Amino acid sequence: MKASQMYLYTLREVPADAEIASHIFLLRAGFIRKLVSGVYGFMPLGLRTLHKVEQIVREEMDKAGAQEIQMSALQPAELWQESGRWAAYGPEMWRVKDRNQREFCLGPTHEEVFTDIVRQNVSSYRQLPVNLYQIQTKYRDEARPRFGLIRSREFIMKDNYSFDRDEEGLDKSYWNMFHAYENVFDRCGLTYRPVEADSGAIGGNGSHEFCALCDVGEEEILYCEECDMAATAEKAEFKDAVAPAEEEKPLEKVHTPGTKTIEDVCKFLGLPQEKSIKALLFAVQADVKDPVKYVAAFVRGDRQVNTTKLVNALDIPEYALTMADEGAMGPATGCVGGFTGPVGLHDCTIIVDTELVNAKNMCAGACEYDHHYINMNYGRDFKGDIVKDIKLLQEGDPCPVCGKPVKKAMGIEVGQVFKLFTKYSEPMGLTFKDENQEDHPVVMGCYGIGVTRTMAAIVEQNHDDNGIIWPVSVAPYHVIIDLVNIKDETQKAAAEDLYEKLQNAGLEVILDDRDERPGVKFKDADLLGIPVRIVVGKKAADGIVEYKLRRGGDVEEISAAEAAERAIALVNAERYGK
Ligand code: ATP
Ligand code: MG
Repeated sequence: MKASQMYLYTLREVPADAEIASHIFLLRAGFIRKLVSGVYGFMPLGLRTLHKVEQIVREEMDKAGAQEIQMSALQPAELWQESGRWAAYGPEMWRVKDRNQREFCLGPTHEEVFTDIVRQNVSSYRQLPVNLYQIQTKYRDEARPRFGLIRSREFIMKDNYSFDRDEEGLDKSYWNMFHAYENVFDRCGLTYRPVEADSGAIGGNGSHEFCALCDVGEEEILYCEECDMAATAEKAEFKDAVAPAEEEKPLEKVHTPGTKTIEDVCKFLGLPQEKSIKALLFAVQADVKDPVKYVAAFVRGDRQVNTTKLVNALDIPEYALTMADEGAMGPATGCVGGFTGPVGLHDCTIIVDTELVNAKNMCAGACEYDHHYINMNYGRDFKGDIVKDIKLLQEGDPCPVCGKPVKKAMGIEVGQVFKLFTKYSEPMGLTFKDENQEDHPVVMGCYGIGVTRTMAAIVEQNHDDNGIIWPVSVAPYHVIIDLVNIKDETQKAAAEDLYEKLQNAGLEVILDDRDERPGVKFKDADLLGIPVRIVVGKKAADGIVEYKLRRGGDVEEISAAEAAERAIALVNAERYGK
């Protein structure tokens, strides 16, 4: 394509609300344009790259035996009522009504729709397994849309769903998708890590997230260099420290004036923080119409509470949990800000971390101003309504598998694979008959790739101060030819010749024939991130051009013929991913 005819508008300035490289450069290079917070449109070059990412996903899905369909974004409430998620989904779901007041949502995901499709046709074990996918627009009214395509309110996801007769089949489908995801992200040129992920109330080890490693990522990953443990912070298990054997001493209430924090009270009493119990107070309310319920969570003083583990233990949706207002919770439950402990509470759910069960002679708030208990022991002095691992694994804590200190990294979640088992097939009546005519619920898995988020993650990992550095596999064009002087017939003829030659070889080429200064053209070529730049200037008369790779290459003066050869070889070697 000739740049003079392109709808191409780059920006010199950094747009106001763009904080991270992918957001800044995708806007500045004119790949995307914001319509409203969290909603973006794709301009010609952006759309080309988006299509390339989609095509990689499509090819790998097809290769793995999944079949493409396309479902509507608009979904009737009835399907979600069947699965029980209409009430449970919360404020991220975009709900709309038709002219007859019938309720719909703009799909945040499609488990219900795919389950419904498959139950219309599948009734026998002979028809299984099934694996269907789509590449489609999703809607989530995110609380904090940010970082451009990374967390938007309208985005493109590849989602697919597998349907098997049993868990063995599901396991096969799951790992088949897992490997397909590795191929997708390899071909996109991402540095990533599959990590064990939370699978919510379903529990078990049934999910992995694929995280593109990146400092600006929102996903905290804990991993071990000694063994292959790698998990999101939300999921990472914690092996309880073995508490030293101790005689239980008598419980004693002590005066601890003004010691509202763990640090203060431990200093005041001369205790290490691991001998104290920390209280965290929460309110639970899934709907404004519901009464507020209170939860007091207790962990060792030097630990943090993991709210994902907490909501799983309580079996509530994440959005229903908030920090409690102590002014309201105090009179209702007996808690006292800064001095709350497990003894003296009433009318609230007490959830105790497993580590506290064997910890002896602990210090905890006495539910009375300026007072703590010492020598508090689980079983004898207090009990939990729920006892579960609710603590956060942090950098330096022992690896839950091998005990070595764990490391931390940040990542962008670009995809997730998930074993659903019969979570949707059971309530929605998707069953099959086995060889003996007995009915069983179909065993399902679901798998998502954030296509638009992946595009942003690629930029996040592939840029410099001047702009994007696209891997060849997803570059909107492979080569940009900068024609220095558009009025010079020799230069023009040489540039056009090269342009044609490269296109005939199947390469995608921009000929920058705009009436702009060379400096502007060079800047734009860098900003757009086209992998190969060929400058046709003064030496065109001698058949010489400048050849430069966007990824750290020096400028080389070579013959136009050699430049063409090199570009063709490079693109052919890398167009399907390295
Ligand atoms: P997150 O934890 O980042 O909100 P999620 O776990 O809710 O994401 P899934 O339901 O697993 O997301 O969706 C599958 C994929 O869709 C994710 O792995 C991610 O790549 C992408 N995705 C999810 N939410 C968004 C969003 N708001 N904007 C862009 N992509 C998204
Ligand atoms: Mg996810």
